Amino acid sequence: MSKNTKLMLDGKMQKASGARTSLLSQSLHYGVAVFEGIRAYKTDGGPHLFQAEAHFTRLKYSAEVMGLDLSYTIDEMVGMSYQVLHENKYLDAYIRPLVFAGTEMRLVPSNESHLLILAWRWNAYYGDKLARLRTSSFRRPDPRSLDLNAKISGHYVNSVMATAEAKKHGFDDSLQLDCQGFVAEASAANIFFEKDGVLYTPAEGNILPGITRKTVIEMARELGIKVEEGNYSLEDLQQADACFLTGTAAEVAGVECVDETVFPMTWEDSIGYLLYCRYRKLVIHPDFERTII
Ligand code: PMP
Repeated sequence: MSKNTKLMLDGKMQKASGARTSLLSQSLHYGVAVFEGIRAYKTDGGPHLFQAEAHFTRLKYSAEVMGLDLSYTIDEMVGMSYQVLHENKYLDAYIRPLVFAGTEMRLVPSNESHLLILAWRWNAYYGDKLARLRTSSFRRPDPRSLDLNAKISGHYVNSVMATAEAKKHGFDDSLQLDCQGFVAEASAANIFFEKDGVLYTPAEGNILPGITRKTVIEMARELGIKVEEGNYSLEDLQQADACFLTGTAAEVAGVECVDETVFPMTWEDSIGYLLYCRYRKLVIHPDFERTII
């Protein structure tokens, strides 16, 4: 961000450097905020927010779960996001809508909420190489304790701890297990693995059901590739031919290894790579007819 970066706060465009909020915000003290991550891609028709409606629908759901008022319509929030892109002259960018609470130190929903929309440039999440994952000592939260379908800021304490641990050991990201010890996801991306031409991915329940995950499952099924959703052990993953991650920031990213297990299949020969190529086409040609290539 530079001194000229602009953001949208409660529907008003302003310079990021001058924007203010309360130090008594409940979000700062207890993590009560909800957010989204959306990518805008440069297309022939200008910047295009990929899956904007799905992301703002999830934001509304998350806000409802946390009791944060979010009365803007999806169309209004999409419009505001384009305005932030326009004001910052971004064609390719990552957009971060955040709904945060006002002053409230009691453990009850705040009756004040704010909508912040930021944008920044964010290149490939894992750079131009395959990601190296390390099994984390931090499990994903138990779905009986938190609503894992909601993207709540406080949940990300777990992701930050898991990522820090992986990086401390020289890896790019963590592989997190769920409370029962099944493979769940990476710190901010869903996981898929390929075995004998079939794709496997952890079922919903202990993961954030990603929008990219859904897109990729649909693309794979359109290609006639079998996709299974279930409970998989670390041993199942270790015996896979290939593996990849999906997420708005991560996009479709190949995985080189999980701990000492290096996946034997070359990335370019894998189903993941095929889906990566199609995903890249889809995001920059949103009207692209997926079934014809
Ligand atoms: N899991 C977690 C924990 C995440 O934070 C994300 C990123 N939003 C994902 C999965 C991927 O979700 P999406 O494809 O909707 O970005």
